[in-house]
Amino acid sequence: MPDHTGPAVQTIRTRCCIAGGGPAGMMLGFLLARAGVEVVVLEKHGDFLRDFRGDTIHPSTLELMHELGLMDELLKRPHQEAREVRGNVGDQEVTVANFSHLPTRCHFIAFMPQWDFLNFLAEHSRRYPTFQLVMRAEVTDLLEEAGRVVGVRARTPNGALEVRSDLVAGTDGRHSTVRARGRLTVDDLGAPMDVLWMRISRRQGDPVQPVGRFNRGKILVLIYRGDYWQCGYVIPKGGLDELQRKGLEAFREDVMAIAPFLRDRVGELADWNGIKLLTVKVDRLRRWCRPGLLCIGDAAHAMSPIGGVGINLAIQDAVAAANILAPRLVQGSVAVSDLRAVQQRREFPTRATQRLQIFIQDRVVSRVLASRQPSGLPFPLKLLRWFPSLRRVPARLIGMGFRPEHVKTVDAFDGA
Ligand SMILES: Cc1cc2nc3c(=O)[nH]c(=O)nc-3n(C[C@H](O)[C@H](O)[C@H](O)COP(=O)(O)OP(=O)(O)OC[C@H]3O[C@@H](n4cnc5c(N)ncnc54)[C@H](O)[C@@H]3O)c2cc1C
Repeated sequence: MPDHTGPAVQTIRTRCCIAGGGPAGMMLGFLLARAGVEVVVLEKHGDFLRDFRGDTIHPSTLELMHELGLMDELLKRPHQEAREVRGNVGDQEVTVANFSHLPTRCHFIAFMPQWDFLNFLAEHSRRYPTFQLVMRAEVTDLLEEAGRVVGVRARTPNGALEVRSDLVAGTDGRHSTVRARGRLTVDDLGAPMDVLWMRISRRQGDPVQPVGRFNRGKILVLIYRGDYWQCGYVIPKGGLDELQRKGLEAFREDVMAIAPFLRDRVGELADWNGIKLLTVKVDRLRRWCRPGLLCIGDAAHAMSPIGGVGINLAIQDAVAAANILAPRLVQGSVAVSDLRAVQQRREFPTRATQRLQIFIQDRVVSRVLASRQPSGLPFPLKLLRWFPSLRRVPARLIGMGFRPEHVKTVDAFDGA
């Protein structure tokens, strides 16, 4: 006799199940729901409030928001605007990128807490009857039938949940469960560093644009966030234990050495609990899909924090996936050739961006971390100083990336 006494499993049926409510998942959910495709987004946390997330909204993402008619409303939310990115190498300052010439409506990167951006997308997605977001639902496994992925199994506070769908989108980030359960092969491209993430208050007279400071084995990235600095202190991979052995006072000295203007407030780093380790990974799936399954965003290609472009790539992936898949999902199920078309569209920007990030990791980051000498200005930065118009190149790479996408899906509820 079969045992019917186990815990009840709740089942939802939908067209597309999206595993992970980060930038890739929320944007894909929004676009598909808007195009009339039933979607269920499963997010393992109870809210979007997490500190590790980058907070950048790039000019090309703002352009997409304009295409969706949402840019003005988004920019009413509190944010800071960075029109330039500067670098300090030793005692020399150089403007690395200037966004004023980009062919976009906004000539700045908007710094907005990512939870505000994700909440914004969630609010707008909920306008569509085709959208469902389930928080505290952690995807634990895939459902497969005859070699095809037909849904997911998830853990929720109310018990087990199964979502059956024509397509599962894996958007669950760098430590993706979906790609692991889908047995997709990952190529690890390596990263020589990790990042310590912390906040230090901002005072009048401090600089206002984001700054990367490099000197004598130390790298500190400072992102202006209104009344505080979001600080990323770069350490050699696995170097936290050694740093902790040396003690917090030595760490504060290191921060002061590279950013002397923080001298009067490094004491705010009162214990290691306020200093979060973010492990950096750079990897890429060989195949982003299988029948019934597609991974995008960091689940398909974990990005280095260099250039702060991972969110933009994740969003661009979502737009490309929606452009290609929405018409298919409206009509019926998607073929694996449709899923491959998404990979084909997004593989070049991903590879090109990762290649550049790895070049900078190897040529700049590793060298600075290994050196005890005062750092001199590398030749490419000297060029940017001598020929300011060259700053348009990094501005384009950071602000727009390779092959920026445009929204081609329609609002199926427009006028409804
Ligand atoms: C130190 C560091 C700093 C960075 N700074 C920046 C920056 O300033 N700007 C920038 O553009 N990029 C930055 N990045 C990269 C950026 O964070 C990622 O590229 C981007 O967040 C990828 O978006 P995503 O939606 O693919 O994945 P994520 O943002 O990782 O979102 C995945 C979501 O899935 C959820 N999830 C995970 N597992 C499950 C599961 N099993 N079931 C359900 N839900 C699940 C997670 O809770 C999360 O909400 C940084 C990266 C690092 C490491």
